[in-house]
This record gives sequence, C-alpha cells and structure tokens, in this order.
Amino acid sequence: MSNHEPNITELPKGIELLHEPSLNKGTSFTAPERDALGLHGLLPPRIFSQAERAQHVMNNIRRKTSNLEKYLYLIGLQDRNEKLFYRVLVDNMAELSPIVYTPTVGLACQEYSRIFRRPHGLFISKYDRNHIKEVLLNWPHRDVRVIIVTDGERILGLGDLGANGMGIPVGKLSLYTACAGIAPETCLPIMIDVGTNNNDVMNDPSYIGLQEARLRGDQYDALLDEFMEATSKLFPRAMIQFEDFGNINAFRLLERYRNRYCMFNDDIQGTASMTLAGLHSALRMISDKLTGQRLVVLGAGGAALGIGSLMISAMAGEGLSIEDAHRRCWFVDSKGLVVTSRTDLSEHKRRFARDYPFHRDLLAVVEAVKPTAIIGASGQPGTFTPQVLETMARINERPIVFALSNPTSQSECTAEEAYRFTDKRAIFASGSPFAPVVMDGQTFVPGQANNSYIFPGVGLGILSSEASRVTDEMFAAAAKALDEQVSQEDFALGRIYPSLSSIRKVSVNIALAVAKVAFARRLTAMQEPPDLPGLIKSKMYDPTYQDYI
Ligand code: NAD
Repeated sequence: MSNHEPNITELPKGIELLHEPSLNKGTSFTAPERDALGLHGLLPPRIFSQAERAQHVMNNIRRKTSNLEKYLYLIGLQDRNEKLFYRVLVDNMAELSPIVYTPTVGLACQEYSRIFRRPHGLFISKYDRNHIKEVLLNWPHRDVRVIIVTDGERILGLGDLGANGMGIPVGKLSLYTACAGIAPETCLPIMIDVGTNNNDVMNDPSYIGLQEARLRGDQYDALLDEFMEATSKLFPRAMIQFEDFGNINAFRLLERYRNRYCMFNDDIQGTASMTLAGLHSALRMISDKLTGQRLVVLGAGGAALGIGSLMISAMAGEGLSIEDAHRRCWFVDSKGLVVTSRTDLSEHKRRFARDYPFHRDLLAVVEAVKPTAIIGASGQPGTFTPQVLETMARINERPIVFALSNPTSQSECTAEEAYRFTDKRAIFASGSPFAPVVMDGQTFVPGQANNSYIFPGVGLGILSSEASRVTDEMFAAAAKALDEQVSQEDFALGRIYPSLSSIRKVSVNIALAVAKVAFARRLTAMQEPPDLPGLIKSKMYDPTYQDYI
C-alpha cells in the first residue's frame, strides 16, 4: 500500500497543485510553501491550520438543512481537498457515516444521474466486452489494492437502480479509507453497466446508464469472467468486493470466483459477520450461549442466507453438529417459511429449508418456533409488527431484535417500536442508524449493525498479510474481534456495537484477527512478522497534512 508523501520537487506548481485533490491543502499551505510553489495570490492571505479548516467544514455541514446537501458538500470537498475530507470523516465518523453511507447514500443513488459531476470510478458497460482491459488501463492509478464492484441491481433495499448504483462503491471505498486507512489512490470503484429493468430509472431523461433491459445468461457471465480475469491481471494485488448484486447473480458469482480470486461478497459475508458479532455481544450482555439460540431470519436473500450460513458454522464451532445447528435456524421469505415441502425454492434457499410445518406469515412462525432472536433482512418495512414484537417479549425475557434492512425507510421496525412493544426489554440493532430513544425516563441507544464495522478491517487484514483468498473463517474471526471491542459501558447504554468514533482502532483489531487466519491457513506467501499490529498500523493512510517543506 502506498504511504508515499511527495517531496517538494515532485509537486506540480501553482494552480495545477490547487487542482490536485490528493495534494491540495487550500488555505493551509504555509508561507514557505506558498513561496516555493507559486501559490501567492492564488490563495487568500490568511493561513489556517488543518484543525481550523476541519472545524469550518463541520460548521458548514451542520448549517445545511438536508442530508443530500450535506452529501453533495462532502463529495465536493473530496474532489477539492482529499486530506481535509478524510480528516473530517475520520474525526466525525458517527455523525458523517449516515451521510456518506446509509441512509443518505441511498438517496444520492436515486439522484445519481442528476448529481453526477466528475468520475470517482470506472463505468464498464456490456459494450466493453473484449476490451475491458483497455478500460481498466484508463484508471490513472496502477497500485490498486481494493476494488468494489456492483452492477446496481439491488441497491440497499431500494432495488434496481442501474448505473445510478455507482454511489455505493464510491461511498463504501471512502469508508475503507476513513475506517481502516486504505490509501484513497489504491481504491477503485467500478460499476458494470448491463442495463436496468427499472423503467422509471431507464426512462428518466437524465439517466446516465444504458437504456436497455439487463443482460442475462451466458453473455452476462462472459462479461463478468472477462472482468475478473482482466482485473486480476492488471491489479494482481487487489481484493475485489462484490456489492449489491441481485439475488440471481450474487450467490452464483461468489461460488464461481471465491476459490479463484481474492474476492468476497459484502452483502452475504460482511453482513453475516457483522450480525454474528452483534449476536455474540447481545448474548454476552445477557450471559447466554449461541448454541442455545433459536433464530428466525425474515428474508432468504443474500444477507439472510449469508447470516444463516455463518451462524450455522459458528454454532458448529461451539460444539453443535452442523445438523443440530441448522435445526436452530428458520428462514421466512415473501411466500412464507422456507420448508422442504415447498416446491418453489431456488437452489440456494433449498439448502436452508427445514423439515417443519409450513406457516405463511411471520407471526405464525414466531408463535410456532418461539425464537430467541428475530433478524430482518427482507427489505420490507413494518414487517416486525407490534404483534410480532409483543409475542417476542412474551416468549423471552430479553428478545433480540435486529432490523437490518436499509435504508431507514425499509427497516422492519423502528427503534422506538422495538422498545415500545417489548416493554423496553428488546436488545435492538438496525442496519440504518436510529437516534437514541427516551422512554419513561430511560435512554436506549440502538446499535447500528453497520457493515462498515467489518469490511474495512477485513480489507486491511487481507492487504497487510498479502492473503490470496478471503474465507468464511476470516469473517467468523472478524465477528469475534468486533464483539471483543464492545465494552460494559456500551452494554450499560443497551448498545451491542462499539461507537463508530472508535472505528480505526476496531478495524486494526479486526485486521489482526483476519491476518492471523491468513497466516495460520497459509493463504499467503508472506512470513508472519514479529510485530503484526505494528505492520498493520504502518500500512494505514494518515489524513493529516504533511509539510512539503
Ligand atoms: P435480497 O433481495 O437478496 O433478499 C431479500 C429477501 O427478502 C428475499 O429472499 C425475499 O424473498 C425476501 N422478502 C421480500 N419480501 C418479504 C416479505 N414480505 N417477508 C419476508 N421476506 C420477504 O436482498 P439482500 O441482499 O438479502 O438484502 C435485504 C435487505 O437487507 C436490504 O434492505 C439490505 O439493505 C439489507 N442489508 C442490510 C445490511 C446491514 O444492515 N448492514 C447488510 C446487507 C443487507
């Protein structure tokens, strides 16, 4: 990873320097720098420290009245002055994560065609077939270490947004830098535009993507195969994160590539890890064991089945047989409980089907199964109804309720509902953030089950250990490492994830756990260094301005 700081002779001069976001320090260029770099007159005379400028930025953000305006302001800053952007993001992660990521990034994607100003990544379309390498060569940086790729088919819980989905890889890569110090010039967001089946998006006159129905079948696979091959040849040290692909492709592509390339699917594996971490912490809070839980997952898509798969292996890791672990998990999709008697199940759902009586709706399932935890990954708001929550509270002293669907508008229930209808006994976490809830004089701080607790640390661990594969064992280790960082103070607030303000420390510890798996399983040609934490920290990008003189 590059941590190279340029010296004065390598810098462009004058206006060119001010227009280079990775080098520009704006009004923080010192007097000697202004002398040496031809900046006099191009900047107003007053010189500010980076801390002062960061404070000004936060003041400006707080004055803005809509989250989309805040998003646009931040993206503008990223385009002008990258270090200041990351300084502000790192120091205000809890406040700004909902702007650069869910829920605001969902809104930004819906508006992406209208707000698109300048490229932050590569668009590869189906017409680039047989030329993908040439397109990749247009990217200005060669030392790429993390790629996030999407085809825009399932953006958050918002569905098919086509090329507008580019907002997701762009936003998530800025979290790689902010949360885990992956240098920005080593991050590459990619949108593979294969069309869209969303007519509203396609018929929008300003839509930036292909106005065609989605490519499917062999031609789609051939395009993706070419992409993976070209990418791994051109950027051999890069880890590739698949993001927001539709169900129809997400599992297939993961199975197709996971043993051939250094890649993973964040919706499946990252979500599972973050959910498992939350469950570990919830159970630690109430002194209970994973192997005694009964889990009902609402949804049977990428997130839900990824969660199921990791839960089963984690329970098996704690002593249950795989069969017994499987018998502790139930899945409910849009048609009802996923059971073996159903004839409409896809291959990947069938693996999780239970030999159990069919129930059509969630309430009936909860009544029958008596789960200790319900986990929502359905993208359907309001599906954790008051009756479902009341039933959970009747069955359990401390019902565990995770409403993971994003953005906020799609959450299975609100934090307020979760506490209200369980007599304030729920251990609650949500995918998108909810403000603390005050009820009868008590304050509850809902945990945010945010994938950015996991994927940046996993990436840092993979890059630091030069691992060639990303494995489920690494995601299980990441979950444990995250759980270990939730303190008694967090528990006292009802919180089962650490504060986002400590995310860089959290990411280092996750990276350590992941790198240890890489060394233990010989997934790298590198020798384990004596000071692994030191090595990991040394790889991290620092957004502090450097003196060029
Ligand atoms: P997906 O499209 O693969 O799966 C959605 C699933 O929900 C499908 O199995 C579908 O049958 C089911 N479903 C639809 N309507 C339903 C209903 N009324 N009742 C029960 N099930 C229903 O999508 P995904 O990747 O699994 O993501 C699902 C949701 O989870 C999205 O909203 C996404 O934002 C969210 N998610 C959150 C996080 C997080 O919290 N960090 C991470 C990943 C995904």
